[in-house]
Amino acid sequence: MLDIKNLHVKLEDEEKQILKGVDLKVGAGEVHAIMGPNGSGKSTLSYVLSGRDGYEVTDGSAHLDDQDLLDLEPEERAAAGLFLAFQYPVEIPGVGNMTFLRTAVNAQRKARGEEELSAADFLKIVRERAKSLKINADMLKRPVNVGFSGGEKKRNEILQMAMLEPKMCILDETDSGLDVDAMKLVSEGVNALRDEGRSFLVITHYQRLLDHIKPDVVHIMANGRIVKSGGPELALEVEHNGYADILAEVG
Ligand code: ADP
Ligand code: MG
Ligand code: MG
Repeated sequence: MLDIKNLHVKLEDEEKQILKGVDLKVGAGEVHAIMGPNGSGKSTLSYVLSGRDGYEVTDGSAHLDDQDLLDLEPEERAAAGLFLAFQYPVEIPGVGNMTFLRTAVNAQRKARGEEELSAADFLKIVRERAKSLKINADMLKRPVNVGFSGGEKKRNEILQMAMLEPKMCILDETDSGLDVDAMKLVSEGVNALRDEGRSFLVITHYQRLLDHIKPDVVHIMANGRIVKSGGPELALEVEHNGYADILAEVG
């Protein structure tokens, strides 16, 4: 599914190297978590994968199945099946949530050479999926994320994910600032979307999120590299001892 090899990234305008050889393989249907101290490059990794401006890949590669992600424009990456949930979802005043979702879904279908969904078909699907994620119909009519609570924004993001049916979902600290109930809703949403053809990369500071979203593999990122990988017990170790022991162990 996702295959990242020796990825080196620096800021476009500065010499500062941020990613210094990231190696990561996520298989189909797997859920991987990335933890790590602040500033270790976790967000940079997700931005570079999604194609955000301002970064320069100086070495290495990133493939989604057989597609070279680094060769694609951001919208082509989305059409290839990549989805990135942001730490701070954007508010779009004046654009209804339903309109936004329909535009996004149809743009993606177009990029994949598929026919647009009719208004009626779209409505049916969005209502079904919203219901299964416990999103009320009212939220579908409001402008995108405007005045939404933290939990509602996150649920809305999960709905976007459910509508776009990505193969590879990256959630960057999507749990930041959430209370326990909202965090549970997000995990339930993710778990509902788990599928043998869909993989997740969950970037988080909190072991407790991983109690709900049970990852197959946990990675620790530090100073621009993945320095240790293991099972869910690695997240518990971080919770109890912090990163110092692991960082000392790997030098
Ligand atoms: P994390 O998500 O693990 O906290 P980031 O990827 O946000 O880490 O940041 C990694 C490092 O790169 C940090 O030292 C951060 O200050 C730096 N960095 C990232 N993006 C920029 C930028 N646009 N301008 C300056 N420094 C940046
Ligand atoms: Mg950070
Ligand atoms: Mg970050």
